[in-house]
Amino acid sequence: MPEPAVPAKLKRLVSLRSRGCCEYCFGQARFALQEFSIEHILPKSKGGKSESENLALACQGCNNHKYNHTHARDPVSQAIVTIYNPRQQRWSEHFAWNEDFTAIVGLIQTGRPTVQALELNRPPLINLRRILYQAGEHPPATA
Ligand SMILES: [Zn+2]
Repeated sequence: MPEPAVPAKLKRLVSLRSRGCCEYCFGQARFALQEFSIEHILPKSKGGKSESENLALACQGCNNHKYNHTHARDPVSQAIVTIYNPRQQRWSEHFAWNEDFTAIVGLIQTGRPTVQALELNRPPLINLRRILYQAGEHPPATA
């Protein structure tokens, strides 16, 4: 029997905890054209549960690119490593903004493959970050 959808109360908790930001690319839901998703960090197809510690808020782009992946190849070491886990790891230890805050730089062996696998620097995101930065709305305070 399939697991039921994420209960509304849990969705609210995940959304509030993330302060309305994608937990991968730090896109802000209030500036997004598509509703953000409640993403299963360990996918349901791999046994992931709809529990607070396995859920993250993700924009549609990050959610689509992550799909059911949990690992990716580090472009530097070529090792297959786990994708960044926003519940167990701190974003600022794995990623940084470039000098004009338009691109995310993967700092270590988890950050680099996550930037590639989730395509955290998709051209529309870079354009939006540039405009929001000029408007004083990027990076969000939580980033
Ligand atoms: Zn995102």
